[in-house]
Amino acid sequence: MTTMRAAVLKGWNDLSVEDVDVPEPEAGEVLLRVRACGLCGTDLKMVHGAFEKRGWPPSLPFVMGHEWSGEVVALGKGLDDLELQPGDKVVAENHVGCGRCPMCRQGRYNLCEKSGTPGYRLYGHTAPGALAEFAVRPAQMLHKLPDSVSPLEGALVNQGSLTVHALRRVEFRPGSSVAVFGPGLLGLLTAAVASASGAAQLIMVGRGSRLDLAAKMGCDDVVDYEKEDPAAGVRRLTGGRGVDYVFDCTGNPDVPAQAIGAVRRGGRIALLGLTGGKPSEIDVDRLTLDEVDLMGIRSSPNAYPAMIALMRSGKVDLSPLVTHVYPLESVGDALAALESREAVRPIVEL
Ligand SMILES: [Zn+2]
Ligand SMILES: [Zn+2]
Repeated sequence: MTTMRAAVLKGWNDLSVEDVDVPEPEAGEVLLRVRACGLCGTDLKMVHGAFEKRGWPPSLPFVMGHEWSGEVVALGKGLDDLELQPGDKVVAENHVGCGRCPMCRQGRYNLCEKSGTPGYRLYGHTAPGALAEFAVRPAQMLHKLPDSVSPLEGALVNQGSLTVHALRRVEFRPGSSVAVFGPGLLGLLTAAVASASGAAQLIMVGRGSRLDLAAKMGCDDVVDYEKEDPAAGVRRLTGGRGVDYVFDCTGNPDVPAQAIGAVRRGGRIALLGLTGGKPSEIDVDRLTLDEVDLMGIRSSPNAYPAMIALMRSGKVDLSPLVTHVYPLESVGDALAALESREAVRPIVEL
C-alpha cells in the first residue's frame, strides 16, 4: 500500500479528504494506523489561518490532527528492544523536544528552546498530524493504552493529560475549591481530573446545555454567565471568599479578568486556552496586592501515563464525552459541529 486517505488543509478554510502517500518510519520511528482523532478549537483556528504568523502550519498543504489514538503497524530500524508490538493500542505525545537544551533536560520538553530547528517537532502543528489513516511518530512519544480504554476514549488522552499537567503546575491540594471556566472538552476533563484528585467544591462556569455535562464530570455547582456575572457567581457559591484555584479553559480573552475576580486572595489561576493572539486586559493591582498566581499551561509533559492510569482505574470515566463520531470523509461535518458548539469534541473514527 502506498497511498492513504487524509484530511488535507490546502488553504485557509479549505480542508478536503484526498489520497496522499503513506509516511515511512525512519530509524527510531513507528508506523501507526490511526483509529480515532478528535478536532479541537486550535484545529479550527488553524483552518481559519489564525496561527499563520506562529507557523502552524509551517506550509500548505498540511495534515492536521493532534488528539488521537492508534495501533502499532510496523517498527522502524533500531527498535528491536521496544516493548511495543504490532497490534498494540497506543496514544502519542505531540511535543518532541531536542533533548539537549536546558528546558528539555529539566523534563520540560514542551518548552524546548530549539523550537524552529529540525530536532524540535510539534506534531499536528509544525509536523504532520493524524487526520489520516496512517502516521509515524518517534517511539519515545508513544504510550500503550490498556484494553479497557476504547480508541475513541483514547483520543481524549491528549487533552486529559493537559489537565493533569495543569493540576501539577498549580500544586493542586486535596480538599480545595475549584472553578473551571468553559465546559468544553478541556473544562469537563479538568473537572473530572480535579474531582478524582480530591477537589472539595467544584464549580463550572459556562452557558447552555454543556452545563448539564458538568454534573456528570463531578461538578457540585454551575454558574451560567448569561444569567449572572461569572466572578460574582463563584463568590456567591464560596461565601464571598472566592475559590482556591481557577482553571480557564476557554481561550476567551475576557476570561482572565473574570478569573482574577473569582479567585481568593493568594489563590492560583491556570490558563489552558489560546486566544489566537487576542490580548487580554487584567487587573494588575488585584494580582499584586492579593498575591494571585497566574500561570500558563502548555501541553502535557510527563503526564500521559498518569492520565491513562486514571482512565484505566475507572476513577475518570470519559465515556459521556464521546458523543459525536464521524468517518474521515465527513471531516467537514465534524468541524462544523465544533464551530456551532453542537459537539463538545467531534471525533473522526478511521
Ligand atoms: Zn487540541
Ligand atoms: Zn530542547
